[in-house]
Amino acid sequence: MPRVDLATRDLRTMSLGAQWIDYVLVRRRGRRGVAFRVDAHGLTVSAPLTMPVSRIEELALRSERWILRKVAEWSARRVAPIEWRDGVALAYLGGTLTLRVSQGSRAHVELVQGELRARLREPGGASIERAVVAWYKRAALAHLAGRAFTLAQLAGLTPPRVLLSSARARWGSCNTRREVRLAWRLVKARPDLIDYVICHELAHLRHMNHSPAFWAEVERLCPGHKRLRAELEATDHLYRSF
Ligand SMILES: [Zn+2]
Repeated sequence: MPRVDLATRDLRTMSLGAQWIDYVLVRRRGRRGVAFRVDAHGLTVSAPLTMPVSRIEELALRSERWILRKVAEWSARRVAPIEWRDGVALAYLGGTLTLRVSQGSRAHVELVQGELRARLREPGGASIERAVVAWYKRAALAHLAGRAFTLAQLAGLTPPRVLLSSARARWGSCNTRREVRLAWRLVKARPDLIDYVICHELAHLRHMNHSPAFWAEVERLCPGHKRLRAELEATDHLYRSF
């Protein structure tokens, strides 16, 4: 008999203190209280299946100081933000691109032989960042959706709908509507690390938990996933410079 999933996982953002905090909301049938956990992935909130989000976030407010302190410890691993200027190195698919900035009447960003060439009407920190991030999001969606489709087909699964997220704390999440959300920043990582994250979310389409059966499914989809997972967890702050 197929296993019935009694849990959902959703990536959400809430306002806490003066900050926006990304978190994964895990709802489980039979769960009574609300629990908060901050680990290498950021904040996870466990809650009963039907508790309104407003009530959950009200409870988070009561643990605000603890949550903010834990999230601050977590984000201390972040690297310094990038300086947006010509010649800077940008991480992309495990390698680096050299940013080339020029001025022109028509704004345009393109990848040419290892250089990300950004032509802008008024090149400056904020406009360079906007243009480069927009390019990264387009490149990320193409790569991530393509890999999700290929990996799902190879595994005999119906390809999910892929959406981008701007989360800094989470690489991916999925829900029971077969939507997989992947952080566009993931496109900076090496392709095999990206594939691991996609396989992890594909496995959640069968098991909405981190049970032994879930990890067996991850291993089926992504042999040797333990090494990749450990590497990603040890280095994920490197992908958060922008
Ligand atoms: Zn997971």
